[in-house]
Amino acid sequence: MAETLEFKAELKQLLHLITHSLYSDREIFLRELISNASDAINKVRFDSLSNADKMEGNTDWKIKLTPDAEKNTLTISDNGVGMSRAEVIENLGTVAQSGTKAFLEAAKQAGKAAETPGLIGQFGVGFYSAFMVADTVTVVTRPLGSTPSDGTRWVSDGQGQYTLEATEKPGRGTDITLHLKDDAKEFLEPYHLRSLVRKFSDFLEFPVVMDSEKEVDGKKEVTEETLNSRKAIWLRKKNEVKPEEYAEFYKSLSHDSDPPAEVIHYAAEGKTEFRVLAFVPEKKPFAFDWQEPVAGLRLYVQRVLIMEQCEQVLPSYLRFVKGVVDSSDLPLNVSRELLQQNPLLDAIQKSVVKNVLDTLAGMKNIEYDKYLTFYKGFGPTLKEGLSRDWSNREKIADLLLFESANTEAGKFTTLADYVAKMPADQSDIYYLTGETAEQLRKSPYLEAFRAKGRDVLLLTDPVDEFTLPSLGTYKGKQLKAADRGDTATGEEVPAGTKEQFAGVVAYLKEKLPEVADVRLTTRLTESAACLVADAGAVNAHLERMMEKMGRDTGANKRVLELNPANAAVVALRDRHAANAADPRLEGYARLLYEQSLIAEGSSVPDPVAFAKRVNDLIARDAG
Ligand code: ADP
Repeated sequence: MAETLEFKAELKQLLHLITHSLYSDREIFLRELISNASDAINKVRFDSLSNADKMEGNTDWKIKLTPDAEKNTLTISDNGVGMSRAEVIENLGTVAQSGTKAFLEAAKQAGKAAETPGLIGQFGVGFYSAFMVADTVTVVTRPLGSTPSDGTRWVSDGQGQYTLEATEKPGRGTDITLHLKDDAKEFLEPYHLRSLVRKFSDFLEFPVVMDSEKEVDGKKEVTEETLNSRKAIWLRKKNEVKPEEYAEFYKSLSHDSDPPAEVIHYAAEGKTEFRVLAFVPEKKPFAFDWQEPVAGLRLYVQRVLIMEQCEQVLPSYLRFVKGVVDSSDLPLNVSRELLQQNPLLDAIQKSVVKNVLDTLAGMKNIEYDKYLTFYKGFGPTLKEGLSRDWSNREKIADLLLFESANTEAGKFTTLADYVAKMPADQSDIYYLTGETAEQLRKSPYLEAFRAKGRDVLLLTDPVDEFTLPSLGTYKGKQLKAADRGDTATGEEVPAGTKEQFAGVVAYLKEKLPEVADVRLTTRLTESAACLVADAGAVNAHLERMMEKMGRDTGANKRVLELNPANAAVVALRDRHAANAADPRLEGYARLLYEQSLIAEGSSVPDPVAFAKRVNDLIARDAG
């Protein structure tokens, strides 16, 4: 005789939400039921080691899917630990698990049930997720150490009540039969089930099987097909995995056609246990710059896929890394939101970041050419870490490569190298940003540094403009832009010079409203003039970048600096002293300004007028 029982109050709420909502993630019910089955097998398998006599010879561990198109049902069977009648009431009639409670809490906070359909898909609501696709669920189960007449049948339509009755069940374990809703018939299709199992449970230890009919010699034959590959490569020992196997797995994760440059595979043991298998790509895939930047590792809990992209375990600046993390210390059925707050994920991230950065450092030191290929593709991404991962700043800084005024074209130096080669009287690290190293090598800003034997790093990644200033210091040395402020040599203009040039400086200031100020400098040894920004202000390169991005740069007037030792500047001074009203003076002033614009990589506002001024000079000089 079947007995009718009521679900506990909060379970009713949950079921109401589940049965009255539509959402896209409902296929996760299969993951939930398969993972419950796997848990049930795990429980009994452990027992089987010491209690072989209690096993009824039923130790061919497997989870079986049986779609029945005629009856419109899908059955998930396992030969796991099973449940007694009391356990069925306890486990399937009340809310015991934390995931469900968390879900209800979130649903309550979100307000009306009608507004929360999206929530269900985000939560692992375990067994009850069956009601997302089924209008009736039947559970037939029999526990370990019982006889075939000890079975229990539980049936519910998820409306508030369920029935229980004793039943005959030949084998130990649990069969869960879902009578599918009209709009859930796709879960009868073998190809669909196959692909879902591969997606969610491919690396599950136990086989997930399904009968398939094949025609052999005109006769129909039923064979049992295993749907999951069961190869949890990350659970194996590093020295037992072949490079081809790693490569194959990497490809399945990344869709990269090349094998990975580095394999990071380790097990963390101690307070928290988890395994990581991650890969550093050889070079930047074409799509990398075009895709939305998504970082993360696949998160498994005991081989069950929980999250495709767990951002919590991999910071964005390492988003080129692909891989998985598997932990048995994480709860399987907790909501993703709550999972994201789990402190274990932070511990995992710390460990993953350390291992990735160490791997990159090893690659740089031992396989430099390989590192160079990697770096040319992902260097800009890595640099984002300078401003985002404060605790690893120096480690990231040590991975950076730069061309410099002293390197050959196309060759690189490092910050450590730069510091090691600094002359004794140099205390800061200098850099210059621009479009290409070739152009920067010719820049007038380098003149005084060259004269003093100081090297300048040449930065040509767009991100450098933001990331290097945020690094601030390296090994206690300040990073300073060579084209800003008075960073050059710290030397004063010789005594008395200022007075000698006061007249022409004032004249230029008046005639050149484009500049914020005009002053003398020791920055230049050859060139006549250059433009500099104040320390921390927008320089020419940044201004050009911002203009390209359509951003208003505001009024960024720079300072025109003059080299008092340059013959042209001296001649200009003398001409001005002789006749301040000479009409040619204004043209000279323009030319000084325009050549400074060209030298910093900007263009002159009126090229035709500029050409005319130059031609006038040629005519006068040659004529
Ligand atoms: P959770 O798995 O997070 O505990 P579920 O709602 O999925 O939550 O399941 C509730 C309980 O029902 C489980 O903890 C387990 O004890 C029991 N159970 C569910 N499925 C099975 C099964 N296939 N075999 C044995 N017990 C099961």
